[in-house]
Amino acid sequence: MNRLILIKYGELTTKKGNRNFFIKTLTKNIEHKLSNFDVKIKKDLSRMCIYFNDCDLKKIIDTIKDIFGIHAYHVAYITNTNIDDIASTVLELLKEKKFKTFKIETKRGDKSFPLSSPEVSKKLGGHILKNIPNINVDVHNPEVLVKVEITATETYIYLDSYKGSGGYPVGTQPRALLMLSGGIDSPVAGYLAMKRGIKLDCVYFKAIPHTSMQAREKVIDLTKKLVKYTDSINLHIVNFTPIQEEIYKTSDPNYVITIMRRMMYRIATKIMENNSYLCLINGESVGQVASQTLTSMNVINNVTNKVVIRPVACLDKIEIMDIARKIDTYETSILPYEDCCTIFVPKHPVINPSLKLSIEYENSFDYDKLIEEAINNMEVIKITNNYNKFDI
Ligand code: ATP
Ligand code: MG
Repeated sequence: MNRLILIKYGELTTKKGNRNFFIKTLTKNIEHKLSNFDVKIKKDLSRMCIYFNDCDLKKIIDTIKDIFGIHAYHVAYITNTNIDDIASTVLELLKEKKFKTFKIETKRGDKSFPLSSPEVSKKLGGHILKNIPNINVDVHNPEVLVKVEITATETYIYLDSYKGSGGYPVGTQPRALLMLSGGIDSPVAGYLAMKRGIKLDCVYFKAIPHTSMQAREKVIDLTKKLVKYTDSINLHIVNFTPIQEEIYKTSDPNYVITIMRRMMYRIATKIMENNSYLCLINGESVGQVASQTLTSMNVINNVTNKVVIRPVACLDKIEIMDIARKIDTYETSILPYEDCCTIFVPKHPVINPSLKLSIEYENSFDYDKLIEEAINNMEVIKITNNYNKFDI
């Protein structure tokens, strides 16, 4: 029996005017991810069909389960749109299974087919009952549910449904910039942003020699984990050390984190303007640390006029950690290399910073010049699905 993978779009189908664009983007993303396989893709407005070589099935499923914009997928058997062929395929399929109750559900996309959907289900049900002994139809709680989808050219029959990643295809929104630290929260924030269709690039602030090269490697590793959900990510690595050292020299120790964060936002804003990124994304979570009280967030956010999205703002740490485990970033994130925000943390970081005082402290050094230098000396690494260390 011939098989194919049937993809259902889910939430995309609510996007009436944009449906074509969403499906086109999803197709492009699937084609890109499956470029190493011998597949043929056919799509219409309600489903996508992937015809494949049987030996690749497991690997293909492993790939498509992480593609956003797929609501569900099925491994379906294909027959001609002809009631006798459909009946013999359904029978062949069910003969291989052990069960006591079943139900057939038919969807007739091709209205010229001579039988209605309930008539097809009834006819197929009768055929099964006649040929397999000791089984019954149970329309409420069947052990085996057989789905039959009839189109003009071919009919798809499947028993199993798998949940896809949901969301929108990456690329249905423009590019945005993720502030990626080596922690647990920001990779999760990036994953959730991509799930809404946002195309990501990242910025990481390194503070060598205060932080190690391993901290930088860790962020590269996290980017490699995130690139699984997209085609490529440009990772901007900014040397934050000179700015950080000036902040320590000139600010009240309790304000250093507030001012560091304002400098990070300023640099990120410049990178956004230079690359036309439409939004800034980060892993801030309300109340998690002193710099993430609503007062702190206001004082920090004050340096940018860009849209800032904080996908994990309202999640508990436990919920964030659960997602991190699911997307396989957790084990990398908990590696013990320090980040520039975690070294020299003051004993009592201010939780209700004053905007006026923050401005006074930072005006005591020429941060514009240091920011310009940091941007001019920034390293950009393009991470793709085939990236390896020696590409740097
Ligand atoms: P995470 O929040 O990712 O677990 P963290 O706890 O070290 O890392 P926080 O101090 O909570 O980071 O900072 C909040 C957010 O600010 C991070 O989620 C990240 O988006 C951004 N950020 C912090 N430090 C850096 C850095 N060195 N480079 C890039 N972004 C950073
Ligand atoms: Mg955090």
